[in-house]
Amino acid sequence: MSNVVELVAKRLDADACSLYLTDAATDELTLEATIGLYQDSVSQVSLPHGEGLVGLASTTGQPVVTVHAREHDQYKYFPETGEERFESFMAVPMIVRGATIGVLAVQTIETREFDSNEVEMFQTCAQLIAPVVINARLLALVGLTDEDSSGTTAEREALENLASDREERNIEHRGIPTSRGIAIGTIYRLETPLKLERLHYTPNQDPKREVEELMDAIGEARRELDGMREKLGSKFGLDLAAVFQTHIQILEDKGFVAKLRREVLATGNALTALTNVIGTYRKTFERMSDPYFRERVNDIEDVGQRVMESLLGERHHTTPLSEGAIVVASNLLPGMFARLEVEKIAAIVSEHGGPTSHGAIFARTLEVPALTGIPGIQAAVRSGETAIVDGAEGLIILSPDEGLLYEYRRAQKRYTVAIEHLDALRDRPAETRDGRSIRLTANVGLMSDLRLVNQHGADGIGLFRTEMLAFAHRGFPGEEEQAQLYERVAKSMAPRTVTIRTLDLGGDKEMPDVSMRLEDNPQLGCRSIRLSLANQGIFKAQLRAIYRASAAGNIRLMLPMVTSIDELRSAKVLIAEVLDDLKRAGIPYDENVPLGLMIEVPSAAITADVLARECDFFSIGTNDLTQYTLAVDRGNEHVAHIYDPLHPAVLSLIDASIRAASRANIPISVCGEMASNPLAVPLLVGLGIQELSSAPSAVPLVKEIIRELDFGDLEADVRKTQKAGTAAEVHQIGAARLRDAGLLEHPDIGPWLQTLIDKALLGH
Ligand code: PEP
Ligand code: MG
Repeated sequence: MSNVVELVAKRLDADACSLYLTDAATDELTLEATIGLYQDSVSQVSLPHGEGLVGLASTTGQPVVTVHAREHDQYKYFPETGEERFESFMAVPMIVRGATIGVLAVQTIETREFDSNEVEMFQTCAQLIAPVVINARLLALVGLTDEDSSGTTAEREALENLASDREERNIEHRGIPTSRGIAIGTIYRLETPLKLERLHYTPNQDPKREVEELMDAIGEARRELDGMREKLGSKFGLDLAAVFQTHIQILEDKGFVAKLRREVLATGNALTALTNVIGTYRKTFERMSDPYFRERVNDIEDVGQRVMESLLGERHHTTPLSEGAIVVASNLLPGMFARLEVEKIAAIVSEHGGPTSHGAIFARTLEVPALTGIPGIQAAVRSGETAIVDGAEGLIILSPDEGLLYEYRRAQKRYTVAIEHLDALRDRPAETRDGRSIRLTANVGLMSDLRLVNQHGADGIGLFRTEMLAFAHRGFPGEEEQAQLYERVAKSMAPRTVTIRTLDLGGDKEMPDVSMRLEDNPQLGCRSIRLSLANQGIFKAQLRAIYRASAAGNIRLMLPMVTSIDELRSAKVLIAEVLDDLKRAGIPYDENVPLGLMIEVPSAAITADVLARECDFFSIGTNDLTQYTLAVDRGNEHVAHIYDPLHPAVLSLIDASIRAASRANIPISVCGEMASNPLAVPLLVGLGIQELSSAPSAVPLVKEIIRELDFGDLEADVRKTQKAGTAAEVHQIGAARLRDAGLLEHPDIGPWLQTLIDKALLGH
């Protein structure tokens, strides 16, 4: 605490600064730290609330300011502090949740009149210090081990804030743009969750009291989860809220609570009880053959963590997410969204990750601006400070001044109007000027996304990423639950088609806490269809669920990341078994569900003729196709500048796939992010693609572009790109087309397209 008083004294240019804290046992204020008063008096001087000027600040909850302290009628002299040297005095209470936890006081030798600005600044200091104090006390109480001796993040952050007010304004950090839009909000630093095993906890002496406190903590955790479930459920649909439902069920489980109670009485320690009970559950679940049950252990662990946080009284690894939060994370894995109140997120900024990483894709689906690839941004920001995020520019601006805020508020308004204009195109066809029509479908992953599909006028679902359900549920739902979910999707979209892709886990789609094999090179490891074929129980349960739902609507089944015909054939064997079972059980399903493949590795594109003979449709996953063709990790910001779906090599594989599909007379679409890249859209249409599936919000934009194009010109453009040797040349061709089509003058999207072109031509 001594650095705290030193910093405050410096900030206020005072000769002494002292921190008095309420002692819970005696309910007196004790001098805990000082600079300026005699050090010997620390821990020796105590005074009841209400006594002396410090006590006055504490009981009234108001600042006490006096030019001549000794003349104040509440003045009390403590000879052991040596305070007779000081003349002027100011004290402010430190209040946390309505309770005074202490008082901060400054003194000066010379006579000084503290003005209202100084009083305000002093109060701000006290406010900043209060959590640090609570934290320090908490740490002392539970003996939290932290390898970093400089304290917790919250503590460091508060001290940094105290040490210097940002004087500099409009501090810009640039990253890779991943989702368009403008946000003005407050920074939320996403920290890693509290780990039970890192805690050393001091329990109550009385085990009964310990039980009571643990039960209270369970109650509080339940209430918190209830609140989150309700809010999320009403806004985003039940699937996202289901994360919380599972956790609530555990907390309501009589067996779980009774075991905890018994353990606390036996061990006298709530932390030990939680760890033991979770351990027992873990062992039981891990022995189960059904992977769904095996994965429930994550929920139990999550619940244990939440209860412990409530027991400690503070979520000291993080601050609550406030409305309009700009989430700043190190890396945003899709599973992390399940822990956040997504409806409060205004923007997402991360240090790591590429533009087609799944965190970025999720941000686009949420329709919040996002950027990535800014090393050190977590350290550069402070929770609670105001910032601007410009997703199109890939820019975050800290500490914006009023002028800039004004400018961005206007830009924000313009952006909203532009989006509304585009949405108004909902019912017009996606057709080129010369009559070539393109199906525009949407990529979704959660039930809540369905609303967006309708809002933006998509013609069905071109890609339903089922692994998103696994993230939302923190474990993949079982057959029954999946069947219900898919049925709801099919029904709500009918007669439009829904292309359901089987589980595509692995690579950067790692499920937090799910024990997937650790691999040196997960992008080339046991991911996607390989994982499904290796876990036939999960795979068949999913296939059954998809076929069961097929009776309710217009479903297509799609396999991800197929690299050879063998995988397709293996999957077909399992499908045949599943259909046989369903038939025998008399469960209805559609006998004509088309079975398609994703073309997302070069081997699939190169052998597309072979694959096309044994499947019903293709969909090109350009995100992975680019990654595997160019050997560029799609989630690595360091190589993001060479990740480019417009590279001639990628285009040539797309072309080969389209030709193979055409020879076999099967439909082909693109469902990677390239499908909504304005520079790529004209070329994909020119190459003969019939369907583009993108984030729902991108559908109107793609439609607007297509409606301004002539198919004849696009074919000519394609011929030009076939002679191009570099991605830059292809960018030029795409940019020229947008320009010639007059799209750069478009009132709603013109300026943004221009920015995009400028960036692309500059090689960003
Ligand atoms: C792709 O790879 O292009 C694709 C659509 O799949 P995902 O982004 O989910 O890997
Ligand atoms: Mg993919």
